[in-house]
Amino acid sequence: MTFRALVVEKTGPSEVSAAVQALSEDQLPDGNVTVAVQYSTVNYKDGLCMRADGGLVRTYPHVPGIDFAGTVESSSDPRYKPGDQVVLTGWRVGETHWGGYAEKARVNADWLVPLPEGLTTRQAMAIGTAGFAAMLAVLALEDHGLKPDQGEVLVTGAAGGVGSIATAVLSQLGYDVAAVTGRPGAADYLKSLGATRIVARQEIDTVSKKPLESETWAGCVDAVGGEMLARVLGQLKRGGSVAAVGLAGGAKVPANVIPFLLRGVNLLGIDSVMQPYERRVTAWKRLATDLPLEKLNAMIQQANLAVVPSLGAQILAGQVKGRIVVDVN
Ligand code: NDP
Repeated sequence: MTFRALVVEKTGPSEVSAAVQALSEDQLPDGNVTVAVQYSTVNYKDGLCMRADGGLVRTYPHVPGIDFAGTVESSSDPRYKPGDQVVLTGWRVGETHWGGYAEKARVNADWLVPLPEGLTTRQAMAIGTAGFAAMLAVLALEDHGLKPDQGEVLVTGAAGGVGSIATAVLSQLGYDVAAVTGRPGAADYLKSLGATRIVARQEIDTVSKKPLESETWAGCVDAVGGEMLARVLGQLKRGGSVAAVGLAGGAKVPANVIPFLLRGVNLLGIDSVMQPYERRVTAWKRLATDLPLEKLNAMIQQANLAVVPSLGAQILAGQVKGRIVVDVN
């Protein structure tokens, strides 16, 4: 019995190539749960995992795909039985362990969560790591006291995956959402997700000479990092927090400490990869209740395994709008 998978092979000292191949089950990595995968997705990190210089994949041949959702086929772990629907994000699956761009995956039961009630496997992958991280960011802001009556919340990289889900969730929770985008054509899309203000990327993507600007944002979900994150720190209201999720605009943050010292702002790190089980379940439950499904549907572009490599290149170039769902079968 064989199954289809997108396999990345090393073809030169600094070259890889990806193609759909037939694999047999005995080629799957170790693990105590085998899952018939239905859907996966394309995140920024998946783009990196399909590049020779992405820095995340250590051994080849490799099956990427950092997320998947599907049905348990066999399990030697008492928590899961055949027929259970499950979701996987994180744990370096798709990076150091074969991932979700395949009809089958074998993983450690500790890495799975049951499919949240109210979501299909397709919807779970429309959310994926990007949406899960966006929800963790919202939870972190709430834990630090953010409430809708405190003022506008900024979302950077808003038309991307993290940004789209953060925008829709925050709007549903009653926040006024200011969405930063470099794509003027995405304004209507962002408004349809609930953004109440569109901020042009160039207004905010360079550091200011002044460490403090006017107090503008009650909080921020930041998918961009770099100079934009440094700039946002100086625009936060007193006691406000920014949840740092991503680095689409750069990893180096030329920040000033003054906003921390004079306004008591907070920089909250978001790591979706190693979250404990309870926090995962909480975040997924909140996604099932706080993300309007009609808005999620409006974000989705569907793809198959064969086109995933080109979508990986597009997401790294900031050209993907919303979320991609990959039907692996
Ligand atoms: P996307 O590519 O879907 O979104 C990123 C968005 O950032 C783009 O759509 C674009 O939005 C904006 N952007 C791109 N390049 C630049 C730039 N040079 N300057 C300013 N803005 C830019 O990626 P994801 O949403 O999937 O991921 C976003 C980031 O979050 C990535 O860095 C990813 O690695 C990280 N991430 C981190 C996680 C964690 O656990 N911490 C989990 C998931 C993702 P627009 O066109 O609207 O300007």
